[in-house]
Order: sequence, then structure tokens, then C-alpha cells
Amino acid sequence: MRSRLVQCPTCKTSSEWAPDNPYRPFCSERCKLIDLNEWIEERRSIPGDPVEIPPQHPNDHEDQ
Ligand SMILES: [Zn+2]
Repeated sequence: MRSRLVQCPTCKTSSEWAPDNPYRPFCSERCKLIDLNEWIEERRSIPGDPVEIPPQHPNDHEDQ
């Protein structure tokens, strides 16, 4: 289980979960910034529909 594919939340591109990628689960810094901007704009706007924000914890396992 060395590699693991993740889907970039912004561009939906499947990319490898590279430990040296500081922008994971995004594929690039650009996608991370885009997602961050959208998230901020959603917060500023009046919420009409409930928005599910994915947890920021990259690890799935919650056990020790
Ligand atoms: Zn991307």
C-alpha cells in the first residue's frame, strides 16, 4: 500500500497521494487555492443549501 490514488476536489483529476506533495489531496497549488477561494466565498454568501465541507483530516483511520 505504498501509493494511493486521490481525486483532486477541484479538477477531479486522479493523482497519486504523494507524501511530497504539500497540496494533497489537490493535484497542485493552483487547485488548492481555487478550492480555498470557493470555500471562502461560500462562507461569505448567504447559505441557501447546506454545504458539506469535507473534513480536513487526510487520514481515514481515526483509531490510534
Ligand atoms: Zn486539481
